[in-house]
Amino acid sequence: MNVASLDLKDWSSLPTPQRCPVCDAAESFPVVCPVVLATAEPVYALVECPHCHVRFLHPSPDDEALRRFYAPHYFGADWYSQEEKGRMFAQRMLPGVFGERFLDVGCNLGYFLYGVAHTSSWEAHGVEISREAAAYAREKLLLDVHGGELADAGYPDEFFGFVRVNNVLEHVRKPGEFLKECRRILRKDGQLYLSVPNGPVDSAGLLDYFQSERTPPRSKDGHLFFFSEHALQRLFRNAKFKVATAHTYGIRRGLRALGRYPRKLRWKAPYRLPDAAPEKEEIVLAPRPRRLPGYAAFRYWQSRLKRIPGLASYGLDYEILLTAV
Ligand SMILES: [Zn+2]
Repeated sequence: MNVASLDLKDWSSLPTPQRCPVCDAAESFPVVCPVVLATAEPVYALVECPHCHVRFLHPSPDDEALRRFYAPHYFGADWYSQEEKGRMFAQRMLPGVFGERFLDVGCNLGYFLYGVAHTSSWEAHGVEISREAAAYAREKLLLDVHGGELADAGYPDEFFGFVRVNNVLEHVRKPGEFLKECRRILRKDGQLYLSVPNGPVDSAGLLDYFQSERTPPRSKDGHLFFFSEHALQRLFRNAKFKVATAHTYGIRRGLRALGRYPRKLRWKAPYRLPDAAPEKEEIVLAPRPRRLPGYAAFRYWQSRLKRIPGLASYGLDYEILLTAV
């Protein structure tokens, strides 16, 4: 479909799927709005399953589209704070869990994993779809990181005691199969830490942008799926996980996205495609910031205070601890 000719009349004619990838319902899927990823073409349909209310991009982006999105310029922020988070995580989450191998799926440059590896006795492993980022983690941080998708890493059954899936589920093309693979490589009673956006809130900005600008919004973080609570529960059940604890983060940002709290002036900017693709083709890190001792612990407790128990419909992010049953 040609973007220039796209208007409110013909966007609803974008191709839609036959079946829901989460609940397998064979329905007709209403188009919420058109969406793009790294480039103006192709245009994907953001559709919603009338049964489980998951929203997702259709068709599923191909390898090339994902490669363009996760080009090296995607990895440039303050990764040192990830290392501190990894240390806090290892201290708080791993004691008491039975197992000796830890896996971080979507480990980016590996700084979080590095923090875990150097704070605990757990054997640390990582998976990262960006081969450049995975090579960085192997060469610069000397970590055991597989470059590619989780299913291709070929870990043995029940290999891990703890798997962390931080802001990854919304990026994968087959979330159901992805969670089943996580379950296969986890030992029984092993733990899966999952952080995932609240789909209805996460996708609200896409529709707002389209209604305001009449041009397809960019799925700014490369999200392919926007899960409702119902859809998440369904995925967990199908993959044989039980929810141990659930929390909601980002209350103010969630209310903002729902229009129940004043928006920031530049809220549209992240949804707009940049004029030109960034030229930086190497992973370049910002200098390590100088921080007072105890800063990481302060930030950790600060974020814990901002969360509320349960899955709140108006929050932006969910943090869920699952047990393999
Ligand atoms: Zn569905």
